[in-house]
Amino acid sequence: MRAVFVLFFKFLQTKSSNIETSQLITNHQTMKQLIILSSICVLFFNCENNKEIESIPKIQPIKVAIQPFQDFPQDITKEVQMAIDSMYDIESTILSPINLPKSAYYQPRNRYRADSLIRYLKREKPNEYDKVLGLTTADISTTKGSYVDFGIMGLGFCPGESCVGSIYRVKRGAKSRKQIISRFRKVTAHELGHNFGLKHCTYDVKCLMQSAKGKATTIDKADEILCVNCRKLIKNKLRK
Ligand SMILES: [Zn+2]
Ligand SMILES: [Zn+2]
Repeated sequence: MRAVFVLFFKFLQTKSSNIETSQLITNHQTMKQLIILSSICVLFFNCENNKEIESIPKIQPIKVAIQPFQDFPQDITKEVQMAIDSMYDIESTILSPINLPKSAYYQPRNRYRADSLIRYLKREKPNEYDKVLGLTTADISTTKGSYVDFGIMGLGFCPGESCVGSIYRVKRGAKSRKQIISRFRKVTAHELGHNFGLKHCTYDVKCLMQSAKGKATTIDKADEILCVNCRKLIKNKLRK
């Protein structure tokens, strides 16, 4: 490219030393040569620009699907979408509702096993999505320490491709529907954070990745934000 510039410059120098600018414009032969040389320059520019575009890595946001189970309220599904989209700078997709899988049902306590649900969600996830977040009104549980079947608000692989949030326990002690929605936005964004590889945060008490310790009231104390430390940890995981 530099060689072409030098050639072009020398050409102009030669021409302007021999003739006046007005003569140059009227000289048909010289104009023709100038046009050809300019075209070569434009051609080189275009080639170089294309090379630059090709060398830029393809950076796309991670694709997240929201999977409501059965009769999960549509307005709360939308709230969850707004929460995760703004938190992780993504554009998630809401899928058509599906039934809760019978295989995850835990009859002794009339609830669904969250560990089975996230395995089911991972298996059923359409290929075009990187992660899937399930939403349910049913009570969910998992094995925790000495508790064989412990009721929880959400569960997600850490890191992984699927997570689930249940509104059942989020409702406990809530003063209004607004508070339920606020809590559930945080629960679901928290579980998705686990999918991105975030563990429970010990850096900032207000961070969304704080452990709720099984209590809905703990969620009220957290802000709907990730602390600077957690944000830094997932910075490179939100694009592919
Ligand atoms: Zn957690
Ligand atoms: Zn944090």
